[in-house]
This record gives sequence, C-alpha cells and structure tokens, in this order.
Amino acid sequence: MQVEDCLFCKIARRDIPSEIAYEDDEMIAFKDIQPLAPVHLVIIPKIHLGSLNDVTSAHELLIGHIFGVIRRLAEEFGVVESGYRVVTNTGTDGGQVVGHLHFHLLGGQALNAKIG
Ligand code: 5GP
Ligand code: ZN
Repeated sequence: MQVEDCLFCKIARRDIPSEIAYEDDEMIAFKDIQPLAPVHLVIIPKIHLGSLNDVTSAHELLIGHIFGVIRRLAEEFGVVESGYRVVTNTGTDGGQVVGHLHFHLLGGQALNAKIG
C-alpha cells in the first residue's frame, strides 16, 4: 500500500473531504461515512501505519496521545456517562477494510455484542 493511494492518508491530507471532529499535528478524527451508532468517529495517526501490527514501542507516545484525545472526544460527544466503545479492527479476520491504523469511537446507543 502506497501512502499516496491510502484512503485515510488522503483524508488526513484533505485530498478527500470528511467531517473533521479533531485535528493536530499527529492525528485526525472524523465522522465515519457509514455510521454504525449515533456517535461514530474514526481516529487515525497522520503517519501511515497499516494496522496495529505495525505499532512498536516507538509509537508509545503517539498511541497514548491518541487515546487521550479519544477520551476527550467521548466527553465532547456526550457519551462518557452513557458509555462507549473503542475498536481497532486488524487484518482480514478482524474485519479491517481500510489499511491505515484507525480506532472507531462508537456510542450514543446500547451497542450490540459485536459491532465495528
Ligand atoms: P474498518 O472496517 O477498516 O475497521 O473501518 C473503516 C471505516 O472507514 C468504516 O467504518 C467505513 O465506513 C469508514 N470509511 C470508509 N471510507 C470512508 C470515507 O471515505 N470517509 C469516511 N468519513 N469514512 C470512511
Ligand atoms: Zn495511510
């Protein structure tokens, strides 16, 4: 997968429009185009990592930062009290479709046992 061809790299570069909920130098969060719940954000690092399989100790600060922002987004989108789910689909059996590491933030309704 070339970074030039990666869908989420294109979203991060704003080559493809999206409804951006948060952005900084390291990451971006945007609304999922086919939401599975009333709150459904996709959160990605700006660097191209194919999946969780590409995460190493070199990314500890980045991943920690991303989860801190996810927590703040849960607050902003009003799901802290009601509850929410963070999902990272990885590989074929994990149901990963887009080959750029991403986290789903899902909430706003009681979630099924399997979702995301
Ligand atoms: P995956 O199945 O790889 O874990 O999740 C990919 C997610 O990206 C899906 O929930 C899908 O709806 C979302 N998605 C795919 N293409 C686009 C797009 O062009 N824009 C946005 N905002 N979301 C997308
Ligand atoms: Zn990418």
